[in-house]
Amino acid sequence: MQLELAQLIGKDGSELAFSEQYDFSDMQFGITHPLTEPVKASGAVKNAAGVLTLTGQIETVLHGVCDRCAKPFTRQLSIPLHAVLEADPDCDEPEDLWTFSVTDNRADLDEIIRTALVFGLDGQMLCKEDCKGLCCRCGADLNLGPCSCKPEIDPRLAVLQSLLEK
Ligand SMILES: [Zn+2]
Ligand SMILES: [Zn+2]
Repeated sequence: MQLELAQLIGKDGSELAFSEQYDFSDMQFGITHPLTEPVKASGAVKNAAGVLTLTGQIETVLHGVCDRCAKPFTRQLSIPLHAVLEADPDCDEPEDLWTFSVTDNRADLDEIIRTALVFGLDGQMLCKEDCKGLCCRCGADLNLGPCSCKPEIDPRLAVLQSLLEK
């Protein structure tokens, strides 16, 4: 979707709302396709003292596989949107990732949503924030309780311990 910004440009205080639904079911993240459900993006572009700022959010249901314990999970995902839309033909290098160009009074909303999703999904592939993962030695799910492996002793501590025992 292209955002038509002609009515905003040059009008301080004006605002344009948007609401769009996307299909990102093809998007691969690691080994999974976590966005099998519709992705909803909504928000508004505002002209504040000549600067066009886009704010809003992306909402969907994430179908992932936990990076730590490898269990599939389903979770509501909400990613905030915040971008600056800049119509400056002299400046072909946007100063940061969240600055998008305006060409012929239009900005590409799809590109903004795609960028926000790729970065927003980073670090989200956990069944829960404090997932304890699997034991690296026996493979037990540590969310279910400690396994029977002995805790690994740092070799430097082991030397210290043997000195103390003498
Ligand atoms: Zn997990
Ligand atoms: Zn273990």
